[in-house]
This record gives sequence, structure tokens and C-alpha cells, in this order.
Amino acid sequence: MNRTLFTGARVWDASGAAPFEGEVLVEGNRVRAVARGRGQIAPAGAEVIDARGMFLMPGMTEGHAHLSFEAVTATEDLITPSPEAHTLLTARVAKVLLDHGFTSAWGASEAKLRLGVAVRDAVNAGLLQGPRIRAGSLEISVTGAMGDESREHNPRKGPSIIVDGVEEMRKAVRLCCREGCDNIKLDVSGDPFYPNTPAHTTPMTFDEIRVAVETAHDYGRRVNAHTRSIAGSKACLRAGVDMLYHCEYSDPELLDLFEAARDKVFVAPTVSLFHSIVNNEAAPNGLTAEIGGYMGIPGLVEASIRTHTELRKRGIRHLIGGDYGFAWSRNGTNARDLGFFVKYYGYSPVEALRCATAHGGAAMTLDNGEKLGEVREGYLADLLLVDGDPLADLSVLLDAQRLVVIMKDGQVHKNGSATVQRRAAA
Ligand SMILES: [Zn+2]
Repeated sequence: MNRTLFTGARVWDASGAAPFEGEVLVEGNRVRAVARGRGQIAPAGAEVIDARGMFLMPGMTEGHAHLSFEAVTATEDLITPSPEAHTLLTARVAKVLLDHGFTSAWGASEAKLRLGVAVRDAVNAGLLQGPRIRAGSLEISVTGAMGDESREHNPRKGPSIIVDGVEEMRKAVRLCCREGCDNIKLDVSGDPFYPNTPAHTTPMTFDEIRVAVETAHDYGRRVNAHTRSIAGSKACLRAGVDMLYHCEYSDPELLDLFEAARDKVFVAPTVSLFHSIVNNEAAPNGLTAEIGGYMGIPGLVEASIRTHTELRKRGIRHLIGGDYGFAWSRNGTNARDLGFFVKYYGYSPVEALRCATAHGGAAMTLDNGEKLGEVREGYLADLLLVDGDPLADLSVLLDAQRLVVIMKDGQVHKNGSATVQRRAAA
């Protein structure tokens, strides 16, 4: 069994406690021991990583992963790649996430049904490098809503399964389960990119959502919802959806529903896409802040701030992550969300980092009885050794060069130990 001992690190265990100087022993795929101070753990048989002056923390979880999105500028980019090309693209993105400290990816949805499944299986078999993956399904939507790209004169297929009514919904969810998807994605509310159904509308019915959740849970799978509207988020919470995305609009009753479900649901606000539009980061691709203004994006950001600041105060388990994979918000920059949690929702850096680690790990292990996302004895060993102090400056996590060691499941994915040696000698 492989053993790795980190010595002299500043250990941040994500429990909420302050960092301490200590040692962490990894045995097999698990954290075997955590000790304060030095010389507490015998190094016999272990590869010793001298981590003096560095910050040791859990790996991060991307809560809204689109592994099949790479520099997307339009829906067309999700539709046109062949399945073969798209599979290779998905494999590339998976490695990008791991290279940037994301040891887990909760799949939101993928552009084709089996992209996340195929890459997950190859990663699990050790054939590809990537994070732990819960594979997202194709989006399931309803006629005329987000993702329905067909018209009567042009019945082309978009990146969604279009269903109407509970029987079609049940069949679509069963299909996603049969093909191996872990997370089933429902497009519950409207969206500013689909003018027929703006963000405040709720095209999917409660009965459609309810039967999707019942079916997915019968198969042991989880359900994600794209929901921006008040009615949509209420329906999701009442139907037992596991992961709610966006949730900009709220009223007092919805906030109470969230609070009542806070031990069951996870929520990812996914503000990054709108942040980048409002700040003209998408302008080189033609999506200027002015166009975003016509689409109502600034109002959605304001609503997001109001709702998620309140959800933070009510102890809802937020995850970072949000629609990375566009040309202006690429996969690999997902840790920007940490800063957005501080800027928009009033999180302290420590609390934001707990969303990325402890909350993400709790979501990833919902169904397998494992523990993940903290540096504690018995937890799965997903660890980052960082050259810098993320608690003082969260943006150090955006610099892959400062991720000196990346460990997933006890296996060293990246070992910049030469850097460690040099630092130790200095
Ligand atoms: Zn998304």
C-alpha cells in the first residue's frame, strides 16, 4: 500500500478550525493520520514530502461541471462536434479541472448523453487523468423552453431531450439512468438566452419534476435543476430535487422552504457567467455588457446577491462552480467562484473555501458512505499543497503553478516536489 507523509505543512482541514502546523499521513486512498507539530508520525515506508511553508488543504469540488464545454460561444458549439471529437474534448477538460485543483466534478449536464459517463469510466479505470466525476446527463427540457432548438421548418436536435408530460419524462429519466448518468438535469425555469421563456417563467410542471425525481431516486441517481424562477425553485424543493442551480429570484416562502430543506439540498448560485457578461469579459465574443443589459442580466445578478446572501445566513450548503466552459469563462478558472462568493454573497474566505471543499465533498459522497472534503482521519485523500495562503488571498488557487502537489484518491497526480526541495533549502 502506498504511503505519503506531508511534514511541516500549514494544515487547513476545512472543519472550520484555524490552520495549524502539522503532519498528514496518507495510506492507500485515505488520510490515515493527522498530527499537530513535527515528528509525531513515523515516516517508515512513506514517501515524505517536505511541505514547510506551504498550505495543505482538501481538493476542491466544481459543483456545476460541464466537462463537454470548451471555449463555447454559442449553443451551436454544443451541437456540432461529432461524438468522437466531443469525447476527446471532454477528456481534455477533465484533466484541465484536475490540473487546477478540482479533484471532484459534480456533473451539471453534458452536450451528449454519454460524454460524462465515458470519461468518468475511463478516469475510474485509470486510463485518463481527471477528477472524481459524477456524470451529468443531457438536459431534459419541455417543448419551446430552454434547450429546444427545433422549429417546425427546421426540426434539428439541440443539446436536450425534449419531453412533455409525466410519461415522456419518466422515459427520458430512465434512459439517462440506463446509460449510466449519475445526475439527471432538468431545465425547470426559463432563461435569458431563450426569449420564449424568460428567467422568471417556469415551463416545466410540478408533476413532470416530481416524476423525474421519483424515477431518478428509484435508480439511485440524483437530480439537478436549472431554476431561476420562484415557482420553479419552490416546485424543485417540494419535489425533492437534490441540487438546485441559479435560484436568483426568491420570496419569503421560498427562503423558508430552502431553510427547511437545508440538510437535504445543495445549491450552486453559478454567478460566474453573468459576472463575466456584466463586466464585458464576453465582449470580444460579441456578447457585450450592453447586450447583457437588454437581456436583463444585471437584474439577475442583483437578485442573485439578495437571495444567496440570505441563503448563506440561513445555513444552506452552497457549492462553488458555475457554467465554466465558455470562451470568456473557461474551465480551469473555476476557482474564480471563491472570490465571487466573497464579493457577492458576503462569505468570508474561510467560509467560501469550505463551500469548495467540505460542502463539495459531502455532495460527492451522498450515496457511497465515504467521507470527502476535509483533511481528517478516515477521509478520502484528495489534497492540495499550495505555495501561498489562500485564506489571505483566494486568488492564489487560480494559479496552477502554485498547486505544488495535487493528490486524488491517495494518488499523486502532480508532484512539484523539486519546488518543495528548493524552498526547504532556502
Ligand atoms: Zn450550466
